[in-house]
Amino acid sequence: MTGDGTRCVHGGHSDGPLGAPVHPGPVLSSTFHLGLPADPPPADFYGRADNPTWRALESAIGALDGGECVVFGSGMAAIAAVLRLTGRAGALVLPSDGYYLARSLAHGELAPLGVEVRKVPTAGPWPDGVLDGAALVLLETPSNPGLEVADIAAVAEAAHAAGALLAVDNTTATPLGQRPLELGADLAVASDTKALAGHGDVVLGHVSARDPELVARLREARSRGGAIPGPMEAWLAHRGLATLDLRLARQAANAEALAQAVQGHPAVADVRWPGLADDPAHTIAAKQMRRWNGVLRFTLPSEAAVGQFLATSRLVGSATSFGGLRSTADRRERWGDDVAPGMLRFSAGCEDPADLVADVLAALDAVT
Ligand SMILES: *Cc1c(COP(=O)(O)O)cnc(C)c1O
Repeated sequence: MTGDGTRCVHGGHSDGPLGAPVHPGPVLSSTFHLGLPADPPPADFYGRADNPTWRALESAIGALDGGECVVFGSGMAAIAAVLRLTGRAGALVLPSDGYYLARSLAHGELAPLGVEVRKVPTAGPWPDGVLDGAALVLLETPSNPGLEVADIAAVAEAAHAAGALLAVDNTTATPLGQRPLELGADLAVASDTKALAGHGDVVLGHVSARDPELVARLREARSRGGAIPGPMEAWLAHRGLATLDLRLARQAANAEALAQAVQGHPAVADVRWPGLADDPAHTIAAKQMRRWNGVLRFTLPSEAAVGQFLATSRLVGSATSFGGLRSTADRRERWGDDVAPGMLRFSAGCEDPADLVADVLAALDAVT
């Protein structure tokens, strides 16, 4: 097995016939030549069913996830496909502290159909019997925005004992940071809008699984539901994926430097980054994660303090999303997350560590 960098740059690329482009562009055609009635059915016939640019990206991501990948038009399209497909046969168990739209989807679309929705904290403890009669357990680890961690292997065992499938939202970790399928999950789902595509110019998601029947049902659900990515987005994500190993290394180094630097600052409380040896989630995270990433969080005294911090910083942008090249911070209470008004989810970018730490410390000094 080759290393992360080699796999990122080679994944989904093949030599092709003599004279074929080494760097083919996206296949934008919505329709494909069908030939005569006697000809065999071609791999491609219509752009909602499949597309060669998707398949190249799916081959690259699937190899990293250790399963077969199905790309979707966004992370939410991927999560929606999983919840609709597998979440109706029994109760649906999902994180109380994960990405807010997963909860909103469960309550807004599945609960009215009679699905029982049960919410559990990512870090536990979970109530006894919470998995009884469950059809699907969704984990998000590390969770967004709290960066809490759940033990994937332990939950997979408990979910399977209860007859439920386990899906893991792997957005924060990326397939380089964590391989949920290897840890026993049935489905790995992610928003590739974040670090995987990595340049802040694509909205995209995917689901990976090992069970061929589950994969076939996901492809069918994608074609039926129509939540497909544009070929251009898939192509951009594939191009972005090539540098994921490099970007993640810099982002993780920056996150570590920042987490350590801001910890002692009087304006800062509650610093969390699973890679810190004294982080409450570190032990489980270190057991199941392959490497760290650039997402950390910390809390400033108030909403006004966040304003002072953002106005003073020269390098940290005020924006939602994470995993991009430039560092950004997002005050999560504005989106309705159940967190303190001054809580920032911080996405460490690819700036030089010394520049970023100096900028952030100077901006923190401006907080009164
Ligand atoms: C952003 C995000 C999503 C949603 O993905 P989109 O690509 O924005 O639809 C889902 N889960 C997590 C953990 C996320 O961070």
